Amino acid sequence: MQLVKSVEEVRAIRWADPTLTWGFVPTMGALHEGHLSLVRRARAECDRVAVSIFVNPIQFNNPADLATYPRTLERDCALLEAEQVDLVWAPDEAIMYPPGFQTYVTVEDLTRPLEGAHRPGHFRGVTTVVAKLFNVVQPHRAYFGQKDAQQALVVKQMVRDLGFNLEIVVCPIVREADGLAMSSRNVRLNPAERAAATVLYRALSAAVAEWEAGRRDADHLRRTMSEVIAAEPLARAEYVSAADPETLEELHGEVQRALLSMAVFVGETRLIDNMTVGYDPTAY
Ligand code: AMP
Repeated sequence: MQLVKSVEEVRAIRWADPTLTWGFVPTMGALHEGHLSLVRRARAECDRVAVSIFVNPIQFNNPADLATYPRTLERDCALLEAEQVDLVWAPDEAIMYPPGFQTYVTVEDLTRPLEGAHRPGHFRGVTTVVAKLFNVVQPHRAYFGQKDAQQALVVKQMVRDLGFNLEIVVCPIVREADGLAMSSRNVRLNPAERAAATVLYRALSAAVAEWEAGRRDADHLRRTMSEVIAAEPLARAEYVSAADPETLEELHGEVQRALLSMAVFVGETRLIDNMTVGYDPTAY
């Protein structure tokens, strides 16, 4: 496994043998089993696997979140070595955003609701960095988690709109034994908050059960989720949503397919999670 910083080193390794297929997993580090599930999928499907580790400042709308984001590069590299990753690219800020940087990529309608409505500038930061990562690595396939459902849709849209020559593969959410979706931010939860954090999984599961029992009104599904969260004293919902799987607009009336999603503060920590009804977001 090679650990490199510069664009030139990445390009040299990537093009040493142009006949090989490359899979790419972009991350912000502090790796867990969710990230490793993407790496394993890439390892199984591609000749070579590249992982980027870059805490992208321009996608953070909250300076305290950026300042306290966990950074564990040595441990991350040991985990990736064990997964037989070929290339780890850990650029620093000056490489990704050199002085005078002034080019940004913006996806419009899809970034307005949900996370976009509550994290101004977040997706502009994501699409800008992902476009740059894609241009440097030029992978055949790039792997994203359904954990960040809107992000996966936004990146797919960017790839379509700008004609990136690669396939986006969306992988299922990896959860702890009690249902909490794995996240680098989970380390911020104290023991009481960690116990309360299962509320996202419980709320989503309750809504899925309602839908499966034939109670499929979108307002009822949102209300079901809100009630479960309201019953947890350490949790405060920022939003709960039952949205169209393609446009991400809120649904009303009976729904055949929906992305159920939420952002919830547990103490000071903001967590997101989702489940789908009526379709499989990871099928392609
Ligand atoms: P991050 O380091 O948070 O930017 O995440 C890097 C990639 O890992 C993104 O595509 C995430 O959606 C994905 N990811 C994060 N957590 C999980 C999880 N629990 N299950 C599956 N994928 C995940």
